[in-house]
Amino acid sequence: MAIKSIIKCNCGQRIVAKDVMQTGYYLRLFGPSFVYVKFRCSRCKKLGEQFVKQEDWEDGILRDTPNEVSVEEKERFDQMGPIDINEVIDAHFRLDDSPSLGELFPTPDSSANQETSESK
Ligand SMILES: [Zn+2]
Repeated sequence: MAIKSIIKCNCGQRIVAKDVMQTGYYLRLFGPSFVYVKFRCSRCKKLGEQFVKQEDWEDGILRDTPNEVSVEEKERFDQMGPIDINEVIDAHFRLDDSPSLGELFPTPDSSANQETSESK
């Protein structure tokens, strides 16, 4: 699931939930309704506001890390810290143990040879 629209400051900084000061609905009788977001940019500290079409508004729009990592996972990853050299070596040996591509996808050499000899 891709986030269709994100909220950005004029400076290009992405606005996430912690930057938002106020949200509201801007309802219209005709045409699309909008979600109103007032924010303070975490980079340039300027106030800004943006209207997002209600149909484009989704739960992930203000999430710091959309889609791929949930909040729980992020906390777990943060606790695990960076990958150290032992983990890299371990992963390397695990790759060595796995079957080669040739074993996984045997090439039909014999049948291919037969076809070429028949065509001669
Ligand atoms: Zn900014």
